[in-house]
Amino acid sequence: MVHSSTMKRKRCQSPAESLPSKKVAQEIDAGSPGKICQLICILQQYGLLVGITKHLFPKDLHALAATSKATYNAIFPRNTSRCSLLKKMPCDGRGVAIRNDLHKRSQFSQGAVESNQCGTVAKNRKVESRPCVKCKVTTCDECRIHCVYQSIRHPADEPDEFDNYSGFVLLDETEMGVLSHSHMFANDDLPNGAARWGELPHHDQGFLDIPLDSPTFVSPVEIEELISMDLGMRPIAAEVSSGIAHPSSILRAFWDITEKRKRPCCKTCLSNFVRRGDKTHTVCDCTLKSQFLDRWLCLRCYQLEQKTVEESTEGVADELSGLCNCGETLDDETERVICLWCYGEVTNPWGVIDVQSPTSTVA
Ligand SMILES: [Zn+2]
Ligand SMILES: [Zn+2]
Ligand SMILES: [Zn+2]
Ligand SMILES: [Zn+2]
Ligand SMILES: [Zn+2]
Repeated sequence: MVHSSTMKRKRCQSPAESLPSKKVAQEIDAGSPGKICQLICILQQYGLLVGITKHLFPKDLHALAATSKATYNAIFPRNTSRCSLLKKMPCDGRGVAIRNDLHKRSQFSQGAVESNQCGTVAKNRKVESRPCVKCKVTTCDECRIHCVYQSIRHPADEPDEFDNYSGFVLLDETEMGVLSHSHMFANDDLPNGAARWGELPHHDQGFLDIPLDSPTFVSPVEIEELISMDLGMRPIAAEVSSGIAHPSSILRAFWDITEKRKRPCCKTCLSNFVRRGDKTHTVCDCTLKSQFLDRWLCLRCYQLEQKTVEESTEGVADELSGLCNCGETLDDETERVICLWCYGEVTNPWGVIDVQSPTSTVA
């Protein structure tokens, strides 16, 4: 056993991990804690540990665990302990802080009401929390990634008018208009379940409209349709007939992020990539929904994933060279496109629809 010379270790002379917990409990019962650090005794009792944990955020728990080997072992006695404790902790609000940091309000923010409180502090409503699929840290619905955050309400001037809404695409800085079905259809034509929006946020619903600060003429895009699009079969801008050369100002943020995941490579490199991914899934059929909504992903992990894709040197970073990373020449015959989200082949990367043989691009 390695002996640490830190003060903390000296005070906890007899690391509790070396004692059976029954004995520790007996000593406490007998009122003679002796040389055993009381804090560690408390932490070793799961019920008490959970009680403490509920009032801590993950970074505090890790700081406490890091004070000594004994506290670490008391808090995380097994490999699975970290996960089960993290589950019991409230969301730490970091996601909303990241949103506030990156989302820039437009010039039309006067009188607008923003609703973007972390579930842990939101008083007027219940916000669902789940562990992040990547880091397992408890994350509320407001602190995880959404395709469209509809978080801002612009109250109507007249009582017979609708309130207006706006929000943001992913972590893109531009404030975008968001329209409810009530804005788009007459009452009789409203789809089932499309209620008039109130004060609470309606993420990923309704229609995405143009940026508030740069009014250009583009038709709003139905968000559900957009985020369900099979990105292996066409680029984000091809499907939506917005009437303007792609990407329109509505689709730009989604376009940037979905195009960055595509890398050209040769046939050989493609099959190497595909082998690394899920072998039952060799063809990319990613959607914005499957990538960002169906996975409960905290914003820290979202940012890390984005950075990994952007900095990835896999595939060809510089298309102009006309060469694959492995040195192979790329031409119409040899070039394939890989999706860095799923390591499947993007079968129709440029959205060319071949009516005769729709699967002709699959190798
Ligand atoms: Zn939160
Ligand atoms: Zn995470
Ligand atoms: Zn290659
Ligand atoms: Zn994919
Ligand atoms: Zn699939």
